[in-house]
Amino acid sequence: MSFSNQIQAVAYCRTPYKQKFGIPRQPGLVSAARGFVELVPPFNQIDAVRGLEQYSHLWLLFCFHENLAAGWKTTVRPPRLGGNEKLGVFATRSTFRPNGIGQSVVKLHAVHTRNGKVSLEISGMDLLDGTPIIDIKPYIPFSDSIENAQGGIAQEAPVLANVSFSGQAQKQLEQYQQNPAYPRLAELIEGVLAQDPRPAYKKAKADPKLYQVALYDLDILWVITDTGIEVTELRASQV
Ligand code: SAM
Repeated sequence: MSFSNQIQAVAYCRTPYKQKFGIPRQPGLVSAARGFVELVPPFNQIDAVRGLEQYSHLWLLFCFHENLAAGWKTTVRPPRLGGNEKLGVFATRSTFRPNGIGQSVVKLHAVHTRNGKVSLEISGMDLLDGTPIIDIKPYIPFSDSIENAQGGIAQEAPVLANVSFSGQAQKQLEQYQQNPAYPRLAELIEGVLAQDPRPAYKKAKADPKLYQVALYDLDILWVITDTGIEVTELRASQV
């Protein structure tokens, strides 16, 4: 059965994450990721967010717009299981799902209503820059937080990798950090790379590859070392 009401974007999310690779696999894992939910007409009205500032966290319902064309799959191989085992789509947070809808809890820092524009300043999101938001709701602790809930294959937060900077990368970081366009840059890079964004099958063996993640308009280059992950270079993105 299909519904007559069309789903439309009420907002778009602005985040530091310019490509899917490297985005944390769930919200709340990288609190240094700051961004905005920018409401669009006809929803960008002060009245539409009246009272929202009383809440510390929000639910964002959104569309996995970059994966819609690929459709959905009945089973998926969650990275948690090393990519070897299949689970049903509805038993996972796969991005390849019917209707392509995702949901994330994010921290709300401020509600901005300036020059007829409404935007919500948030952090801790796991969303690609430009993600269409289809609904926004306050997080209600007494009901949304369930003590002793069973988390299946994702009971615990992922184990973090040790992240270091080469001498060159450290100098570049110090330069870029002075630019207000890159808030909390060191913490953002460390937080993202500590998740070890590589696909599960890569983690099992020696890995000489030079990796890159795109944060803001910067490319962050990194390699695997004996002790974890080393950032080797920060540079302006080469688009
Ligand atoms: N917390 C959400 C949920 O459970 O529905 C998302 C979980 S999903 C596993 C998170 C991943 O979605 C990110 O690591 C990123 O690779 C991917 N992603 C984020 N925004 C996306 C978008 N707009 N289109 C496609 N994939 C996206």
